Amino acid sequence: MKCPVCKGNMSVVKDVMPKEKVGFEAYKCENCGEELVNMAQLKSLAQKYRELRRAKDVRFAKWGNSLAIRIPTELVDELGIHEGMHALIRKEKEALKIMPG
Ligand SMILES: [Zn+2]
Repeated sequence: MKCPVCKGNMSVVKDVMPKEKVGFEAYKCENCGEELVNMAQLKSLAQKYRELRRAKDVRFAKWGNSLAIRIPTELVDELGIHEGMHALIRKEKEALKIMPG
């Protein structure tokens, strides 16, 4: 891919939106530094922002020696989860993934 500004060579770079910490991929000109994203890269970024908007802010609370978080009612209803139900929890990169059932 050639740079639309200077016709220089463009290579794929991975970067992070500093505020939201959303990672993205773009083409960057090795000559002038111009950056652009293609349709697939744009769609991927839009998807990440949609997920971020859906995310709820929760706070960790002390529960014995462990920490607990409240699951928002909206998610409880959507997932059909209830008190006493089992779930698996695992670390996934810098996140926690909770799988009910
Ligand atoms: Zn350029």
